Amino acid sequence: MFVKKQPISTHPHILSNPIGYLKGVGPQRAELLQKELGIFTFGDLLLHYPFRHVDKTRITPVAALAPGEEYAQVAGLLSPFELIGERRARRLTAQIRDKTGVLELVWFQSISLIQKVIQPGQPYLVYGKVSFFMGKPQIVHPEMEAWDPEKLRGKDFLEPVYPSTEKLKAKNLGGRQIGKLTAALITHLTERDLPENLPLKMRESLRLMSRFEAFRNIHFPQTTALYEAAVRRLKFEEIFFAQLRMNLLRWERHRFSKGVVFEKVGDLFNRFYKECLPFELTNAQKRVLKEIRIDTGKGKQMNRLLQGDVGSGKTIVALLNMLLAADNGFQAVLMAPTEILARQHFQGIKELLEPLPVEVAILTGTTKSKERRLVLERLAAGEIHMLVGTHAVIEDPVQFHNLGLVIIDEQHRFGVAQRARLWDKAPIPPHVLVMTATPIPRTLAMTAYGDLDYSVIDELPPGRKPIQTVHRFENDRSSVMDFLKAEIALGRQVYVIFPLIEESEKLDYENLMQGYEEIKTYFPEPQYWISMVHGKMPAFQKEENMRRFVTHDTQIMVSTTVIEVGVNVPNASVMLIESSEKFGLSQLHQLRGRVGRGAEKSYCILLTGKKLGNEARERMKIMTSTNNGFVIAEKDLELRGPGEIEGTRQSGALSFKLVDIVNDRAMVDAAKQQCEEILKEDPDLSLPEHEVLKDFLRSQKGKTAWSKIS
Ligand code: ADP
Ligand code: MG
Repeated sequence: MFVKKQPISTHPHILSNPIGYLKGVGPQRAELLQKELGIFTFGDLLLHYPFRHVDKTRITPVAALAPGEEYAQVAGLLSPFELIGERRARRLTAQIRDKTGVLELVWFQSISLIQKVIQPGQPYLVYGKVSFFMGKPQIVHPEMEAWDPEKLRGKDFLEPVYPSTEKLKAKNLGGRQIGKLTAALITHLTERDLPENLPLKMRESLRLMSRFEAFRNIHFPQTTALYEAAVRRLKFEEIFFAQLRMNLLRWERHRFSKGVVFEKVGDLFNRFYKECLPFELTNAQKRVLKEIRIDTGKGKQMNRLLQGDVGSGKTIVALLNMLLAADNGFQAVLMAPTEILARQHFQGIKELLEPLPVEVAILTGTTKSKERRLVLERLAAGEIHMLVGTHAVIEDPVQFHNLGLVIIDEQHRFGVAQRARLWDKAPIPPHVLVMTATPIPRTLAMTAYGDLDYSVIDELPPGRKPIQTVHRFENDRSSVMDFLKAEIALGRQVYVIFPLIEESEKLDYENLMQGYEEIKTYFPEPQYWISMVHGKMPAFQKEENMRRFVTHDTQIMVSTTVIEVGVNVPNASVMLIESSEKFGLSQLHQLRGRVGRGAEKSYCILLTGKKLGNEARERMKIMTSTNNGFVIAEKDLELRGPGEIEGTRQSGALSFKLVDIVNDRAMVDAAKQQCEEILKEDPDLSLPEHEVLKDFLRSQKGKTAWSKIS
């Protein structure tokens, strides 16, 4: 897990020393630190930040202790111990006396140990939570250390407390004790070991303390203000370099990458546009198409993220882009995250392209081997112009004749690594268009996908009636069902969605079956016909059930969330979501996007149990008050934090040590702005004042694109 490479350097840096070399660690504790906290080197220890500090800088006279003061430190002479009480009430007491009064100390546990190590008659510093017992101050289980009565002040620094584990505590490496190691480490470090990595000008304008000072002060600050300044500085550094790396990747691509050139808009594109396009493109669609045209025409590789709310019409943009590739003699691939969606894309594209001489094929995990062989052959020979599929299309045996464009629909299931695999499929890397199903707040998108260019379709096709969303409780079920019947009587179709709780597939399945049976009692055959689709179903059956719904042989589709992405049945006008409280906001929004695709007024009904937590209640409120996916994404981010947001989990780009994307948004924006200004002025980082940035990126081996550039 934690394998780290030693940097190749003739002067091994002190921070890459194995942790076992630190005084007070030794082999046994070193192994534990590695296993429990992933601390392998001095540097790792330095980056193991405290989660709070204890203030022992002051010594409070006993007379000044007042009820209401939480923790305090008192210095004085220790009286002899007294053992009081029997059995459970047994306790050890002693007093600390200073010039102003007497503080009572009490121990209920470790009594014999305390008696052994603490010496009455000696001066001690005691620290702990002060309480008052019959008007007198006392501390139960105080922390104690020997005191030099010459010293009238307390500690010079706030004492750090670190995250630790039970196993470490057993080896005397609890939250406080780790601080002793950190303290030993810091005394060894000089400014040379932690060189500044931000330009002076930037530090001055943002009032950031130096890097060396920041590391000292995040561990051992003299004041809370200094600690906060240290955190601020290190946070900025963290987010700034993350952005710089991403931006460099993007700049590198803009300047140095080679891309195939789609130089002309040819017959296929033009004929399709004039003869086959079933509607006028929205302005947003036209704008994005233009951005893509420019990108793919200039000989650099395109790497673009296309965001658009559900139903904003991303597919047609993708298709036009694919036609552009075909016009220029290149093959294109469209990747979808699920079999169902891939098939639907394939059907849709085939129908739209019917009049045109374009060969479209599909390849998924369930494609039969005979057919697969044929597709692979024709693909390699260049006879297939467009390939639609699941991630089966990027597997090794798939070879293209001349792949020029890859479109990834519903991006979140594809990680950065999978994107990279595409590079091997053609001598010149194909253009890549990534389309997200779930809008991601802009800040987040720029942070997680800062290496991509960004387009957004911020407009829905005209004539859409907003979906009316309501929240109903379980005890409204029969009136909800009556509503469904009324809609079906008007010739519409209905989705009923059950949640998928990943921990137990079996339970999910049982839930779904139970739900299905219940729906059936409300909607008996032959008056009503129901399709059902779920993850455990064989592909052919899924497809058959989907098809029956698409062709209106069935009026009701009962399904788990497999239906979530992309599926398009314009006549379906009601989305009933069972146990809505079990879904996240973005997922609810995605599901809702399955309706409102036709001319009819559409409804989304969020059914929940009676007892709702605050957060679930909030989600229902948001869903019933807005249809805007971007607004919902923002709220989702606020409610759940970035770690949980679809589309960012796998990117890894958001796993920061200190930065919290939601709460530190102002800082994220500031870092982004700095980054852009610097690269605009000095894309090579060749100005003397940017030397520090370059040095730092170079020192971060393996993490940066820099090696490729210089
Ligand atoms: P998504 O962005 O969610 O993938 P789709 O591409 O599936 O959305 O489009 C949703 C629906 O809107 C489809 O039925 C599509 O044909 C239709 N559509 C797309 N663009 C337009 C437009 N400019 N005018 C009218 N309908 C459109
Ligand atoms: Mg789509």
